[in-house]
Amino acid sequence: MKERKGIMIRNDIRNIAIIAHVDHGKTTLVDAMLKQSGVFRANERVEERVMDSNALERERGITILSKNTAVMHNGVKINILDTPGHADFGGEVERVLTMVDGVLLLVDAYEGPMPQTKYVLRKALEQHLKPIVVINKIDRPDQRVDEVIDEVLDLFIELDADEDQLEFPVVLASARNGIAKLSMDEESNSLEPLFKVILENIPAPDVDVNAPLQMLVNTLDYDDYVGRIVVGRVVRGTIHNGENIILMDEAGNRNGKIGRLYTYQGLKRVEVPEVEAGDIVALIGLQDANIGDTIADSENPEALKGIKIDEPTLSMI
Ligand code: GDP
Repeated sequence: MKERKGIMIRNDIRNIAIIAHVDHGKTTLVDAMLKQSGVFRANERVEERVMDSNALERERGITILSKNTAVMHNGVKINILDTPGHADFGGEVERVLTMVDGVLLLVDAYEGPMPQTKYVLRKALEQHLKPIVVINKIDRPDQRVDEVIDEVLDLFIELDADEDQLEFPVVLASARNGIAKLSMDEESNSLEPLFKVILENIPAPDVDVNAPLQMLVNTLDYDDYVGRIVVGRVVRGTIHNGENIILMDEAGNRNGKIGRLYTYQGLKRVEVPEVEAGDIVALIGLQDANIGDTIADSENPEALKGIKIDEPTLSMI
């Protein structure tokens, strides 16, 4: 039986979102991070796309490619949550940001901050997240890295960033070439400096895995075979496959039963028997779950009273 430690800092996990204006290189950066992460095979995305996805889906009972990604680095799983790159309808950016402890703000080294950069940065600052600024495409001959960093700083000031947020780390990157560095005159042949800044600056989840279960339904996905997929972060306790739970909303409580549970690995969802607080889970079985509902321990739903559930930083001791 697995030892239960109760309250702990989960140093084995980081939860981040990459926010950027369209075309500034989000997809390219995530691909490069995947290729350089230990566990997952390079070119996975390409191979999976070539395969007959219908056959794969039938075999596994769920669409395996997800919008979210996880990469492994030095034994730490970095969950990278997708944020909409288009104009946001209905607060999806906020709901994704509620699940993470930090963001990478990706800015093109020539274009500088653009309207969507400002829009998503404002949301992140409002949720008290401290961004890491990644200036991408530094290989461009027309790059103007120093000016762009100044423009980003001006944007933080315009958006009333607090003192802590204003001290954002800056990483220079060429996602296309798979390199990152801290200054232009530095030699680099990998993204290692970026991974290092992420692990050092994004707080690890501070959670109680023994407390009564609490999870917020952050986003919903849909799959032709299994229907509604609930995605959220386990805030407290541990969620188990097949567990009876209470689904709570403003109108009251409903009973529910968790079906299969998945966590992210590379570009896929992989089935797991349980997920402890601090991690992001995708689950099936709750066909009537809605965004904003709370999933609670069926034997102990009262334990949630008085607990604010929409804090981005989740230390609840
Ligand atoms: P997204 O819309 O943010 O996901 O952007 P993509 O990752 O699709 O990249 C948009 C375009 O920028 C593509 O043509 C990429 O090849 C290009 N791109 C991405 N990263 C780099 C980079 O580091 N250097 C250069 N020169 N181009 C890049």
